[in-house]
Amino acid sequence: MKAAIFKNHKIEITEIEKPSLDNKKGAIVKLSGCGLCGSDIVKYRENLVKDGTVLGHEIVGEIVEIDSETNFKIGDRIVSSHHIPCFECVYCQNKNYSMCKHFKETNIFPGGFAEYIYLSEEHLKNVAHLIPNNLTDMEIAFYEPLGCCVRAIKRCELKENSKVIVIGLGSIGFIMAQGLKAFGMDVYGCDLIEDRITLAKNVGIKAFSSNDTQQTVDFIKSETNDLGADAIFMTSGADATIDLALKTVRSGGKILIFASTPKNFGYANNEIYYRELTVLGSYSPSPKDLEDSYNLLKDGKVNVHGISTIFNINDTQKAFDDTISNKVYKAYIKISE
Ligand SMILES: [Zn+2]
Ligand SMILES: [Zn+2]
Repeated sequence: MKAAIFKNHKIEITEIEKPSLDNKKGAIVKLSGCGLCGSDIVKYRENLVKDGTVLGHEIVGEIVEIDSETNFKIGDRIVSSHHIPCFECVYCQNKNYSMCKHFKETNIFPGGFAEYIYLSEEHLKNVAHLIPNNLTDMEIAFYEPLGCCVRAIKRCELKENSKVIVIGLGSIGFIMAQGLKAFGMDVYGCDLIEDRITLAKNVGIKAFSSNDTQQTVDFIKSETNDLGADAIFMTSGADATIDLALKTVRSGGKILIFASTPKNFGYANNEIYYRELTVLGSYSPSPKDLEDSYNLLKDGKVNVHGISTIFNINDTQKAFDDTISNKVYKAYIKISE
């Protein structure tokens, strides 16, 4: 079968062996497409995976073979994510599901930029859903990335109507902001790119340009009785965002980190101490976060209509390149009809 593999720091289209059930429980899914995630970009750009790896996990497809105790059957069109927690270890008991060893070990095989994948019984039971009739494959492909956002939102435990700024309005900032709104927050968003600001405004986010840091700080102060925002969600890993977050969060507020930075900056010890800030990281979603994400998309609370650019699997390299150079907002790799 055809697959896009990572090789010599490039993406290569090649033939690899098609996965099979081989007496295992689970399903073989013929993929119609797979979203290109920011984490795929990081793995690619920083050479974090072995040659031959098939990246991609934001998958959508149709079950073509199955041996399962679930109700799924051949012909079902499904969306799934890739990791499942054990629900028993210390991490799981403390709700740090994405730190669970089992979570990290479970995956789809071989990866989402391929014609077929093997999805285990555990996946079918915990994280697979039928595609809702009202959404396109490209739209429901946001199931996993939005699940990550839902987890981040829940982790912050914010009061309703809290004033929240999303720094960075790329595709993740765009769905994060809408998710925050769906959870009852008063949401602001900023970016340097004008098109992104317009897109966010179109879905009801109070979006503005953060081109000038002092102007941004003044604007947020004027919107918050001089206090600063209750929470900052950092979906951009650019250096300047850390400074902007510290300047726009109110004392006692929260900073949610949702992006890696190219360098390790350390942390702002004295600001966190003297201003009683809470700084949290949030990584990957639990099955419940994913279910919430599924419902937000199905119910139209998060609208991702028309924001992805389609690339044929043969053009996966271009999808990576165009995403890195900000030519496209979100890439979706189309694998079959
Ligand atoms: Zn993802
Ligand atoms: Zn666990």
